[in-house]
Amino acid sequence: MFLKEHFDGFLHIIHHLAQHLLIELRCKQKYAASALASPYNSMGRVIAVANQKGGVGKTTTAINLAASFAAAEVNTLLVDCDPQSNATSGLGFVKDPERVSSYHLLMGAASAEEALLTTDLEQLWLIPSHKNLIGANLELVDADGREFRMREALAPLRDRFQFIVLDCPPALDLLTLNALVAADAVLIPMQGEYFALEGISELLDTIERIRASFNPELGIEGVVLTMFDERTNLAQQVMTELKNFFDDKLCQTTVPRNIRLAEAPSHGKAALMYDPRSKGAESYIRLAKEIIERQASGFGLPASAVTKEAPAGTLTPENTGERREESLTPLPAPGAGSGNTERNEETVVEEIPAAAEMDKTA
Ligand code: ATP
Ligand code: MG
Repeated sequence: MFLKEHFDGFLHIIHHLAQHLLIELRCKQKYAASALASPYNSMGRVIAVANQKGGVGKTTTAINLAASFAAAEVNTLLVDCDPQSNATSGLGFVKDPERVSSYHLLMGAASAEEALLTTDLEQLWLIPSHKNLIGANLELVDADGREFRMREALAPLRDRFQFIVLDCPPALDLLTLNALVAADAVLIPMQGEYFALEGISELLDTIERIRASFNPELGIEGVVLTMFDERTNLAQQVMTELKNFFDDKLCQTTVPRNIRLAEAPSHGKAALMYDPRSKGAESYIRLAKEIIERQASGFGLPASAVTKEAPAGTLTPENTGERREESLTPLPAPGAGSGNTERNEETVVEEIPAAAEMDKTA
């Protein structure tokens, strides 16, 4: 008798949980469908995370920003444009030369659709990379329209994702050029250190040249301070200097140095899946919110029309949409049919300051 009561209680709880999950799933499907139907969404925003300086937090920013967009319940695609493949391994995918990747996209050997991988986050997809991508720099050197390969490859997907985030290599090479030609805007991560501005005039010159020759609508999404320790005088000085230089292009959100951000990739997870309450995860959720709000104001829409708010500190594996087994994607899964789910591992042209002016500041 005692056992039967326990068993009935257990069944009752399971029944409740199942109902709760079903309701949550239906809400998500409904929301995602309405988000996709909005005029804002039909634009789809492509953001290249770029800085030719190495180790400034590009990949950490690309992974965690993309994951935070997805957790805010908008369909997001992360494209690994770096032969180091850190965004790929950071989401838990083992290196596999056979897998369709960004290399195949640039070489015209596969469509972006064929390269899509689903991830642990319900609304986040990945186009992986492999070290063979380094060959594309050479193989494309005499190819027609070599700067437009990524733009053309991503064009069929643009109306299916609200955000497409491109993780660039630490070089101003053909791979970064392809990402910048494909992008609507560049997000520049910078480390809050004394030499933060070093090399930035070169990046800004490159952006200007790309605007002049290939992509007149390329904007600057923002400059984000990474590995930032607000307690130090030096960090405050660097921030003041960047603020003077970049004005409202300097993101209000700064990313602190946080061990969880460094640990998460070795677990194949974005920080908000690894430790949703960590300062690192929270800062990228805030950054995503800041970018969504800016976007919304650019389109004259309230942020809530773009996406439902995902408040910092309240994300749990449940509402971050942890990987589910079947048909739980709110929309027909992009790439359905690629079978590629293997897993283990406004157009505003800003004025940019002249390089000479930049050097003074640097
Ligand atoms: P590369 O130029 O090689 O592509 P990157 O600019 O993509 O590098 P990341 O790989 O994101 O830089 O970061 C460099 C290192 O710093 C990594 O080990 C990463 O885990 C760590 N890191 C990045 N951001 C933070 C942070 N906010 N707190 C702590 N560690 C961080
Ligand atoms: Mg990187």
